[in-house]
Parts: sequence; structure tokens; C-alpha cells
Amino acid sequence: MGAGLGGLPAAYELRHLLPSEHTVTLVSEKSEFTFVPGLIQVAFNLKPLAHVQLGLAQLAQRHNLNWVSGKVTALDPANQRLTVEGQTAIDYDYLLIATGAALAWDLVPGTGPHGGYTHSVCTPDHALEARQAWLEFLENPGPLVVGAAPGAGCFGPAYEFALIADQELRRRGLRDQAPITYVTPEPYAGHLGVSGVTHARELTAELMQERGIEVIDNATIAAVDPQAITLTDGRQLPFSYSMILPAFRGAQFIRAVPGLGDEKGFVPILPTQRHPQFANIYAAGVSVKLAQPDVTPVPIGLPKSGQMAEAMATAAAHNIAVDLKAIKASHQVPTLEALCFAEFGKTGIAYIAAPVLPDPKTGKRKSSYAVRGAWVVWVKAAFEEYFMVKIRFGVGMPWYERLGLRTLFGLKLLKDVAVLPKTAATGSESLVS
Ligand SMILES: Cc1cc2nc3c(=O)[nH]c(=O)nc-3n(C[C@H](O)[C@H](O)[C@H](O)COP(=O)(O)OP(=O)(O)OC[C@H]3O[C@@H](n4cnc5c(N)ncnc54)[C@H](O)[C@@H]3O)c2cc1C
Repeated sequence: MGAGLGGLPAAYELRHLLPSEHTVTLVSEKSEFTFVPGLIQVAFNLKPLAHVQLGLAQLAQRHNLNWVSGKVTALDPANQRLTVEGQTAIDYDYLLIATGAALAWDLVPGTGPHGGYTHSVCTPDHALEARQAWLEFLENPGPLVVGAAPGAGCFGPAYEFALIADQELRRRGLRDQAPITYVTPEPYAGHLGVSGVTHARELTAELMQERGIEVIDNATIAAVDPQAITLTDGRQLPFSYSMILPAFRGAQFIRAVPGLGDEKGFVPILPTQRHPQFANIYAAGVSVKLAQPDVTPVPIGLPKSGQMAEAMATAAAHNIAVDLKAIKASHQVPTLEALCFAEFGKTGIAYIAAPVLPDPKTGKRKSSYAVRGAWVVWVKAAFEEYFMVKIRFGVGMPWYERLGLRTLFGLKLLKDVAVLPKTAATGSESLVS
């Protein structure tokens, strides 16, 4: 379920791993696959939306997937059945939930493009709406406020938006008419939901200062009206244009099934990506529950990057194939070693956290660091092209991608585990790595 950065590669992996008597069904509420990281460029009119989209009907036909178009509205784990658009029933033997994030605009009145006053780059529709408003803003520039709502866990796109806006305004000689403020619940600029990444704080703060962007950290946006953002400490931030990332939650149908998700609708998982109670349900990507280990003055979530989503999806697909005895192999777990290329105009910063979650005993990671350079922008653009090509060719996460990330950045995305037999009562697993 879900044909995003997790769901579509998982469907491809399953199709490669399972013999042809198995049907792989892909259910998607959207008729296109979207490379979501590319939406920021779309919002600035730097590339057309079509550049980061591919039609799912054609991909499914070409790569032997059974594509069902529509939104999953209900799930009945006891009867192994899901409902699409309230009417079509689909029975399953195994289910992979990869429905990403539902956007919690309702938590902060006045946010969001539908009924609110701030823009967003989280979906293709939002990016198009943000682009239209951006073009109008360029005609009549004023204060620009970019940032994230309390509880948000995805900050990279907000930094990218603020810094690319700076570049675009400078390019047109309009920067002095548009003061930029970055407002965030993060404890400091450069945290991005992951504390203690070497050099991340200094490099990010330095860049924001260099570009003259005012940073307000530890901020809680209380409400937004057409003219200004109000923080809980009473400060008002007037704006002519604003892009605010919301807090995320899980899809509505997850929240409606008792025991399937947590209070926010994120799906709890065992290390193999399997649900702890429902033995034939797996989840991957933003829809899974990953707790933020840091206690921060303003609550924030844990980022789940595209590359983490893909690694989780690859592990889930592999493990379903093992469960079905289609392949003879150990189960796999994603290491959650993460790499994020953030593009900031002519320069960028690569943030590496290996793994994202530090060792619970020592509080340490194998490695974590940030590096700045123009090369980040080139690598990110090249990765986008590569990703679109591999999606077109029906490739999930191939060995050469894993080898590349290992060779260049020392990241090992998946590891084998020995799984002890399930206990019949709980369906729980013990894992030995
Ligand atoms: C603007 C932006 C920029 C980003 N930039 C980066 C970056 O540079 N690097 C990086 O690593 N990460 C980046 N991310 C994060 C990255 O996009 C996500 O980690 C990734 O998309 C998560 O994959 P996913 O499969 O979990 O969700 P998605 O890719 O969002 O896919 C979920 C899919 O499920 C569908 N869906 C949802 N509900 C239903 C339903 N009920 N029924 C059927 N279908 C449903 C959705 O329409 C969507 O197509 C960025 C995120 C944003 C918003």
C-alpha cells in the first residue's frame, strides 16, 4: 500500500523475489510515482513536476504488478482484507504498509495550503500551489517565513526551501525586499531531528548567517493568520509568503484499526519491519513508528529519510519472500544508517548519521558527520536522475547502489539476522545479529 519511495521499490523487489504464481498488488491513491525530494525545485519553478513523476499504470504493466488505483480506506487484519475508496475489497496473504505521512495541519490553526495561510512542499499538489504563490510573491516581495511546526520530524526540506529562496531572490535582485526568517522547534539550527552530528550545527548556522537568514529555534508556532505567524511566547512574525512543514501522523485507515498503530497512527515494527502482533503485516518508510530518543524543549519527531524508507522497504520485501519460502535466506534488518543530501543553492551539506538512532546503552553512533560543498548539489541532482531511471526500469534497491553507498560513505544499509522461532502466543521474534 502506497507507491512512494518505499512502496514502489518494495513492490519491485517482491516481483523479483517471488515466483510468478504470486501476485504483487500495488495500491496507490495517486496515479503517479513522485520523487518527493524533487518537489522543492518544482515549487521554485526550477523544474516541471513531470520531471519527478512517472505514471504508475504504465510502470505496473511493464513490470508485472497488479495496480489498483485508489485510496485505502479500511483494513481488516482478522480477515486479511483491505478496502479501496470504500468499495473495492482486496484480500491479501501479506501486506506491506508504505503509505508515508498524513499531514497534521489541524494541530496548528492557520497552517497548510487548504484552508490555511502557509504553503507546503509535501505533495505534488502542494508544490504546484506553492509555485503559483511564489511567482505572485516575486511580483510583490515582502517578509518570508520558512520553518516547521512543533512535532515535525522532517527539517531538511525547510532548510532547503529557505536557502534556495535566498538564492532565487538574490538572482533577481529582490533579496533586500524579502527578509527571511527560519522558525523551528529544533533545539538549534542544524539539529534536523538528530542530535550530535559532528559539524552539523556549525556548518548549518554558518550558512544561515552567511545568507542573512534569521533563525528562531526552540519555537512553537501557536497559530497563523493571513498576515502573521504567532509563537506561543507571543512573538509575531509578519509574512508575505510562508512555507511551514507540519507534524506527521500515520494514514487514517491505520488509526482506525485497534492495535495496528500507535496514538499517532505510526505502525510499530520488529527489527525485521514486521508488525509485533499481526504476523503477516509489514511496514516501511514514514509510516513506521521510530521514537525520537532526544528530549527537547519543544517536541520534535525523528526524520525518516528517503534512503531509510528504501532500506526498510527492501528489508520488508526480502523478509516477506523468506516467510513465503520463495527464497532461502536469513531475514534482514535495515541498519537505519542514513545519509541526506541537502541542496542549498550553489552549495549543500551532506548529513550522515550511522545509524540515525544511537546505541541505547552508550548513546553513541558508529559515525556521524556533516560536510559542506558544491559537490553535494551535483550528487543530489545525479541521484535524482539515477532514481528516476531505476524506477522506470523496475529496479528496487540493487546491489550496486548498496555497494556505492558503502564505498563512498561507509554506510551498510542492511544486515542479515538469524531469527529464532516465533512464539505462538505473541507472534513475537527474537533476533540475533
Ligand atoms: C519536500 C520534501 C523533500 C525531501 N527531501 C528529501 C531528501 O532530500 N532526502 C531524503 O532522503 N529524504 C527527503 N525527504 C523525505 C522523503 O521524501 C521520505 O522519506 C520518503 O518519501 C518516504 O517514503 P514513503 O514511501 O514512506 O512515503 P512517500 O514517498 O510519501 O509515499 C507514500 C505514498 O503512499 C500514498 N498513500 C498515502 N495514503 C494512502 C492510502 N490511504 N491509500 C493509498 N495510497 C496512500 C501517498 O499518496 C504516497 O504516494 C523529503 C520529504 C519532503 C516532503
